[in-house]
Amino acid sequence: MKVCDHINEAKDTLISYEVLPPLKGGRMKDIFNMLDPLMEFKPPFIDVTYHRQEIVFNQRESGYYEKVSIRKRPGTVGICASIMHKYGVDAVPHLICGGFTKEETEDALIDLAFLGINNVLALRGDARKAEDRFLPEKGGHKYAVDLVQQMEKMNRGEYLDPNLANAAPTEFCIGVAGYPEKHFEAPNFDTDLMYLKEKVDAGADYIVTQMFFDNNKYFEFVDKCRAVGINVPIIPGIKPVTRKSQLSGIPRKFFINFPPDFVKAMSTAKTREDIKQVGIEWCIAQSKELKERGAPVLHYYTMGDTDTILKILKDVY
Ligand code: FAD
Repeated sequence: MKVCDHINEAKDTLISYEVLPPLKGGRMKDIFNMLDPLMEFKPPFIDVTYHRQEIVFNQRESGYYEKVSIRKRPGTVGICASIMHKYGVDAVPHLICGGFTKEETEDALIDLAFLGINNVLALRGDARKAEDRFLPEKGGHKYAVDLVQQMEKMNRGEYLDPNLANAAPTEFCIGVAGYPEKHFEAPNFDTDLMYLKEKVDAGADYIVTQMFFDNNKYFEFVDKCRAVGINVPIIPGIKPVTRKSQLSGIPRKFFINFPPDFVKAMSTAKTREDIKQVGIEWCIAQSKELKERGAPVLHYYTMGDTDTILKILKDVY
């Protein structure tokens, strides 16, 4: 079933999770062990992130360096299929532009369609660590909107080969990313919003937000989206903070701000347990307010921390 249909049919705020594939060499069992206790809250869909290859330089015996392309967390599509098979819920693979030509994107989408995976979160992806800006693959997409357009065309039975006759239309429900505190590369919020609208106009069916820790940022974001004519569901992405180091790590990585009250509460917490408790309570308060004010779904970035998410959900639901 499509994410949008789940939302349309829901009587209350839904719950969903985002999981990361394990590091290469990991087991599917680890994902199941993490998800098993969380299934009690009946998520209608679960997202699985996608991780681009990174370039690394390995020193050989001769002293020369060898350039190698490695993928640390492969397996997104396999994990999606396993989740659907084991739990009977929908899986939403993330698909990025980075590292894919348009042809490879088309092939990946055909695989998903054949597996019965009809939901995809369409993203650009970040720059590789060794590069200072996002560089598309030669013959690949530069922005997420281009990926949305390709998916939308496939939904109309239009594939890359113009001579393909009677091609089966795909049925993708397309999600895209939105940034209540602006994407870090955008020159200003309004420009970013304009590009978000382009993604929706191109065919995106719903938006999932970057994490935020001040609900007002989400409510203002929704208002601004509605004001420019973005009318699709906007799913808030939520992450509990459990370590003090995240107070600097998260803003550095995700370009978001922590509210002063939260920073103060974290700073006064003494033990590891106290710090975790502050993060959990903050996340509970955020979740309760978002639910009360009618957010369509609470989408938790689990980062493999089942216990924390369980504590939060047991309080919220
Ligand atoms: P875009 O929508 O393409 O936007 C990127 C930047 O370009 C923005 O600054 C935008 O304002 C600007 N822009 C957009 N269109 C145009 C245009 N036509 N002309 C000029 N400028 C334009 N990354 C992963 O690698 N794997 C994942 O699984 C993953 N999951 C994510 C899930 C969520 C919910 C979110 C919020 C992010 C996720 N990311 C993931 C990170 C994401 O790939 C990065 O934030 C990336 O830098 C931007 O992706 P985007 O799809 O928002 O890009």
